[in-house]
Formats: sequence, C-alpha cells, structure tokens
Amino acid sequence: MSSFDYDLFVIGGGSGGVRAGRVAAETGAKVALAEEFRMGGTCVIRGCVPKKLMVFASKFGPMPGEARDFGWEMEDGSFDWLKFRPKLHAELTRLENIYRTNLARPGTDIYDARATVKDAHTVELSNGRTYTAKHILVATGGYPFVPDLPGAELGITSNEIFQLDHLPEKILIVGGGYIACEFACILNGLGKHVTLWHRGPQVLRGFDDEVRGHISDLMVQQGIDVRVGVTPESLEKTEDGRIRAHGTEDHKCMVNEVLWATGRKPNTNGMGLEEVGVKLSESGAVEVDEYGQTSVPSIYAVGDVTDRIQLTPVAIREGMAFVETVFKGNPTKPDHELVASAVFTHPEYGTVGLTEEDAREREKIDVYCAAFRPMQKSFIDRQEKALFKLIVSQETQKVLGCHVVADGAGEMIQFAAVAIKMGATKADFDAAVAVHPTMAEEVVLMRTPTRSD
Ligand code: NDP
Repeated sequence: MSSFDYDLFVIGGGSGGVRAGRVAAETGAKVALAEEFRMGGTCVIRGCVPKKLMVFASKFGPMPGEARDFGWEMEDGSFDWLKFRPKLHAELTRLENIYRTNLARPGTDIYDARATVKDAHTVELSNGRTYTAKHILVATGGYPFVPDLPGAELGITSNEIFQLDHLPEKILIVGGGYIACEFACILNGLGKHVTLWHRGPQVLRGFDDEVRGHISDLMVQQGIDVRVGVTPESLEKTEDGRIRAHGTEDHKCMVNEVLWATGRKPNTNGMGLEEVGVKLSESGAVEVDEYGQTSVPSIYAVGDVTDRIQLTPVAIREGMAFVETVFKGNPTKPDHELVASAVFTHPEYGTVGLTEEDAREREKIDVYCAAFRPMQKSFIDRQEKALFKLIVSQETQKVLGCHVVADGAGEMIQFAAVAIKMGATKADFDAAVAVHPTMAEEVVLMRTPTRSD
C-alpha cells in the first residue's frame, strides 16, 4: 500500500499532461490532474485547434474570385466574425469535454485549480488542499511573451485573438515566426488589412532559407504589408481609439489592433519548482534528462514547459514515453529526430528534416527544387507558386530534408515524413510512380539536382 495520496500528480491539462495522466491511469495507477484554466491546454483552447478553424474560414476569402474565373457566377462575400465565433467556441467546449471525459474514464481525479509544488512529493492547490504523490509531472506549457516597451499592454496576444468582439479592420502583427505568419495569412484571407513587422532580415528564422523567401513573396503577393528589419519601440492610443505603433528606422503604423506574436515562454513562474530543487534554464524552462526527469528524481516534465520542440504531437510523445518509463518499466526516450511540422500560411508549408543550410554544414548535398504554378492556379492566371524541395546526402543518397509549400502541404508532409523516417534514399523516391495530375507528383519527378556541392 503506497503511503502517497496518488501514484502520479499531473500539473497541467494540455496535450502532454492529459495524455500522460490518462495512459498512466490506464495502467492501474492512482492519478490526479490539476488544471487552472480549461482542459485541453494551448492546443485545444487557444492554439492549434481554433487557429486551424480560422485557417479554414480564411481560405474562402479568395475563392469567389477564383470560382468566377473557373466559370461560376458568384458574388464576393464578407466574413461575419460574430457568426463564426460562437460556433468556434462551441467546438472548443465540445473538445474540452472530450478531453475531460477521456481523462476521467480510467479514474483520474481532476482538480480545477492551480497547483504549485511544495516538496519533492507534495503539491498544493489554489483551494488550499495539499496532496502527496510518488511522482509529479509538470506539464504546464507556455505563455505568449510580450516585449517590455512603452504601451505594450495595448496589444493582444494569440490568447486573446479568439475572444475578440470584432476583428480589427487594420492590424499590426509583430514577429516573424509560426504565429505571426499564420495569423497574417488568416486575417488577410478574412479581408483585413495586415502589416507585419519582423525584426530580422527574413520571416520564419530557422526554416529553409529558400522557402522563407518563397513564403514571404507569397505573403506580399496576397497583399500583406511585410516589413523586415523593423523592431517595435512603442505603442500609443490615439484619440479616436486606434493604436499608433512606432518602430525602428522611423517606422510608423496606425491600426485598430496590435498582435504580439513574439514567441512563447515556459510556464514556470510561481510554481515553486526552484524552491524544491528543480533546475530551470535561463529562459525558465524545466531542465530534464532524456527521459523527462528533472533534477528532483520524483519530478518529471513534458511539453512546452521544457522548451525543446514546442509542438503538441511532441508533447504527447513525451507524455507517453514518461508513462512507459515510470509506470510500465520500459525506459523510453522520446524521439526528437525528424519531427515534421506545418506552418499554416496560405499556402501551407510542410517540412521534415534538415534545411539546405543545416544539411550543408554537416555534409555534401544535392538539392532538388522545383517552384511552379500549379494547374489550378495557372488555369486562372494566378501567380501563386508551389515549391517542392528535397535535400539529399551525396554520400548515402538518403533524403535528409523535404520542404513543400503548396495547398495541402501539411497533409503531404506527413507521408514524406514516414518515408524519410524509414531512411528513404533519393532512388526510393524516384522508384515511386507519379500520381498524375497532382502537385505532389513533383516530389518523385525531380531528376536533376538544382544545386550540388
Ligand atoms: P516563434 O519562436 O516561432 O517566433 C517568435 C518571433 O518573434 C520570431 O520571429 C522572433 O524574432 C520574434 N521576436 C521575439 N522577441 C521579439 C522582440 N522582443 N521584438 C520583436 N520580435 C521578437 O514563436 P511563435 O510565438 O510564433 O510560436 C511559438 C511556438 O509555438 C513555435 O515556435 C512553434 O513551436 C509553436 N507553434 C506551432 C505551430 C504549428 O505547428 N503550426 C503554430 C503556432 C505555434 P527572431 O526570429 O529574430 O528571433
């Protein structure tokens, strides 16, 4: 008989925490989970899910014009946020309930409260109760970072955008990462005027350089006012209720809303972690070993709070690996190699493996790249180009990276990720017969390297 109240106490009801809690409870362990806000975490409540639903909504923006060019009689439409928003929130509530039900089914106790760590085996809830547990799992995720500058509080973050009473006609988005580029395309697609200020020389730092340029060009073509090399300096409210933003190099912008898309920080503030001996990094992330164990052996951490790869499926894998390790006697390291992801710009960018730049630093490579107007766009004389790119090792002929910018690239890259994870060579790609006529067939048709080292 355990002397603890629980075998596992999970702090945080997001993707990683809920999965770990549920799967641990299914092994017969006595599990509790505390969540201070809503079950489902960033992904379900204020991230991937509402964002993707807005992506779907925004894709209808250019459709009437395209349909007319295909021969349809069709008027332009306009987007009614107040019609969409209740449906959006109803869907989030539905998903939240599914998370809650699935977690409770194997017998997990759910506490709707904030939890802090009191010692290596004790958590305290905001309702004053304390519980002991053999293991504590910290899965508290992250929060949007807002730069400290005059008037910063006038802007919103991705947390608030889904709650707005009306969508701003003109918006300034600050940042050049996933969230900035995705929301620039979403709001532009919904008919809003979008300016994007990014402090660096090109958006999407860390991604393949050629793709970054391609996406930036597409964003500009769509009418997004992309300004690079601009750092915000201050925001001020004007008499008519708008916001005037001031940036470096005398940049100014008058808008109805400013969205800070300037990165996310691990949620460890006031958690009591350092006090009990859990080491945090300079950015506040929980430091863990390959098994997710912190410097206090009974405390583990998974997901964004560890600031490794901030993606839902990765947090889920980390949660599952934790359960394998701690509750199934099968020490398992989550695999962080060749994680595919998609940036939901218009069109999408799907990527897996190395960028051309990173691959070249490691070894000699061949690069296969094709940028072309897909059939659907060239027929109606749209300039939007798709891009397919493979990075191949000269020595092993293995495909080291695959990058796709195209409608549905997020869907396509999942399949490329299977092949690349299996160690597919360029010859394996070439051996697959093209599916015609599609855009994706390009990935098996690129026979001559565009560049070779
Ligand atoms: P990112 O880290 O992707 O981008 C942050 C951006 O903000 C960068 O362009 C950065 O510039 C800029 N920035 C940071 N600090 C400042 C500052 N003080 N002033 C001006 N600009 C600044 O973060 P996001 O918030 O976009 O997304 C967070 C994470 O969430 C992503 O990294 C991703 O892992 C995940 N995510 C995944 C999605 C998906 O899978 N589709 C969608 C959304 C988020 P610089 O490049 O110069 O550092």
